[in-house]
Amino acid sequence: TAQIETHEFQAEARQLLQLMVHSIYSNKDIFLRELISNASDALDKLRLETFRDKSLAGADGIDIDDLHIDLEVDRAARTLTIRDNGIGMSRDEVVGLIGTIAKSGTGELIKKLREAKNADSAATGELIGQFGVGFYSAFMVADTVTLVTRKAGQTEVTRWASDGSGTYTVEAVTDETEVGVGTTITLHLKPEDAEDQLHDYTSESVLREIVRRYSDFVTWPIRLRTEKTEDGRTTHEWETLNSRKALWARPKDEVSEEEYREFYKHISHDWLDPLRTISVKAEGTFEYQALLFLPSRAPMDLYYRDAKRGVQLYVKRVFIMDNCEALVPDYLRFVKGVVDAADLSLNVSREILQQDRHIRLMRRRLVKKVLGAVKEMMTDDRGRYDTFWREFGRVVKEGLVEDPDNRKAILDIASFASTHSADELTTLRDYVDRAKDGQDHIYYLTGASRAVVENSPHMEAFRAKGLEVLVLTDPIDEFWVEQVGEYEGKTFTSIAKGQVDLGADGDEETGAEKKVDESSFDALREWLTTTLADQVKEVRLSNRLTTSPACLVGDTYDIPPALARMYQQAGQ
Ligand code: ADP
Ligand code: MG
Repeated sequence: TAQIETHEFQAEARQLLQLMVHSIYSNKDIFLRELISNASDALDKLRLETFRDKSLAGADGIDIDDLHIDLEVDRAARTLTIRDNGIGMSRDEVVGLIGTIAKSGTGELIKKLREAKNADSAATGELIGQFGVGFYSAFMVADTVTLVTRKAGQTEVTRWASDGSGTYTVEAVTDETEVGVGTTITLHLKPEDAEDQLHDYTSESVLREIVRRYSDFVTWPIRLRTEKTEDGRTTHEWETLNSRKALWARPKDEVSEEEYREFYKHISHDWLDPLRTISVKAEGTFEYQALLFLPSRAPMDLYYRDAKRGVQLYVKRVFIMDNCEALVPDYLRFVKGVVDAADLSLNVSREILQQDRHIRLMRRRLVKKVLGAVKEMMTDDRGRYDTFWREFGRVVKEGLVEDPDNRKAILDIASFASTHSADELTTLRDYVDRAKDGQDHIYYLTGASRAVVENSPHMEAFRAKGLEVLVLTDPIDEFWVEQVGEYEGKTFTSIAKGQVDLGADGDEETGAEKKVDESSFDALREWLTTTLADQVKEVRLSNRLTTSPACLVGDTYDIPPALARMYQQAGQ
């Protein structure tokens, strides 16, 4: 004798449900992502359970070699069914797991929800987003939801049903039909969505699209029962919708270069091969896997402020968002790839990600991995490194300002034009190794182009004394040299500023300069000082020139010319 029990939802659950029923999300499609993710978890759990309990694999109602998630629609009845043959739930579990919310942070969330008062406000949506909507998201698209489930190793079958208001029913299913292990969820879709072609969840193409977008890399096959009518005869077929190729989840040595390349092209929409593939696997309390790529060529929009950047974020193979900026700093915005975290809410928002401590730790680790990979390229594949630096060096140098913690690591992988070679770049390491004994400066000169810098009168004395000068021609150079200060104990020193003391670093003093009687220039200096009073602060005698009669020098503490120009443009 089947008995139907009616239960009340726990207060917190009821409040969350209310928000779902009144659909605070513009993106309803995610209900399918949530239900598929639950089904996928259930399949994972069953497989794990059969490792622990060998007898289970062959037990009644379990087909361990054919684990899958099935989608089935009934257009006439307007139902969508999601079925998995995973672990299933006992009656008590159904009541405990579906009827209540046992997640940590629930109390806190509800408190904030009460404070936010207005159930439709954006703030509420944000709060729910932090929490993860899970199973209840089904009520965004369904008037009623029915769940039939049988737990692995048990014979009892339980039916749960609710219309999303205050109560739900539970009953033991006792009819003759045999029910396999697993969970079947049937959504009685809201009539209003039938009119909306993009959100008609009985449409094969709509389902195909959503599964491909959110669940393509789910390990288990997600199959759709398709219907074909030919010559008045209707046939049915199971069509697998997801590619299941989550390369990042497979051991590195089991994935071919070719597969990595194809995957890169798939996610980046680049037609060139990637320059370098970086795979990261972190185990422990916060588990994640990442597959990152350095492209071979800078995209056109690398310097556009509103360009898309960042990697794709997944939670256990389920797609969460594109362009997740929180995982890579701006100066590595060209990095493409996928990060798959095990313990994030599926509904995590960008705002939350920015503040999340785990995300910050992940980001730190990913940055180290990327910088480390570039360093490896420097030694094991110099040609590729050169390509990398040519394409992305300018962006990476932004990190010298943006990310003080990694300054040293960035300087280690940087290279610069220098007077040492007309065509090859130099690393700072090499500069330092070439520096003369006692030279405690790294000399540089900034300018609009190499030619401008090379022809600067400031260069003359340095050239004469054989002192190497870095030729810095990227706008960002003006900024970082000011802030970075030193490399390996040697100070970055502009040869266009203040009094550069060549005495210590130069080979020998040229006798002629020594003998000059400075007072014999007093008249000229006075005349220059008064004539140029509006243009210059001071007129000084200098030993930094060899062939030019005079040059302009900035004060040590002056703002760099590029900054000055920026301020001017900004109207300051
Ligand atoms: P979450 O997945 O974050 O735990 P959900 O609201 O999505 O939250 O699901 C609540 C719980 O209900 C799950 O943790 C799981 O124990 C159970 N559950 C949901 N769907 C299934 C399913 N298809 N098979 C087995 N258990 C399920
Ligand atoms: Mg879930």
